[in-house]
Amino acid sequence: MSNVKIHPAVDGGAKPAASNFAGGTLKCDCAQNKVEVAVKGQCAHNHVCGCTRCWKPAGALFSQVAVVSRDNVSVTANENKLSIVDATSTIQRHACKECGVHMYGRIENKGHAFYGLDFIHTERSAESGWAPPEFAAFVSSVIESGAKPEDMGAIRAKLTELNLPPYDALSPALMDAISTHTAKAAGAVAR
Ligand SMILES: [Zn+2]
Ligand SMILES: [Zn+2]
Repeated sequence: MSNVKIHPAVDGGAKPAASNFAGGTLKCDCAQNKVEVAVKGQCAHNHVCGCTRCWKPAGALFSQVAVVSRDNVSVTANENKLSIVDATSTIQRHACKECGVHMYGRIENKGHAFYGLDFIHTERSAESGWAPPEFAAFVSSVIESGAKPEDMGAIRAKLTELNLPPYDALSPALMDAISTHTAKAAGAVAR
């Protein structure tokens, strides 16, 4: 294995999903009065993301981000410490004002392909058994957060070695879901 570091959750090999996983509680990084978000059930489409907007642990090149139904997400402690990072963004990332950790990202546009799903960082939960990352999204974007263009070959090779196929947008399945949604809205595909 090369010494390229992607994210602590995958660098040593990802842990497998637990069957009948019940979910967990995401906690922010504050020493006290942590924001807590309870998530019911297993996540889906977990992946590492190279974009500049997802929250990453210090030193990580990629974030780790998954989706869950918004109905299964509830803030259970210190909600007053949350604020939306950018209210104009498609994904409204609710972050702790004190430590900066993003607790959940929510889409409020009912017309969006991913409306109804919240984005979460499963490593904020102490419970193990979350479905591990399956692919790498927006890989080229890590250049925007400081990765050297000449290192991209090694970064993509490392992702492939970790069984995280590298894509420069979302995975083909998710890009197809977005296009299908758009096509249905436009009447190009039957609803
Ligand atoms: Zn905090
Ligand atoms: Zn991202």
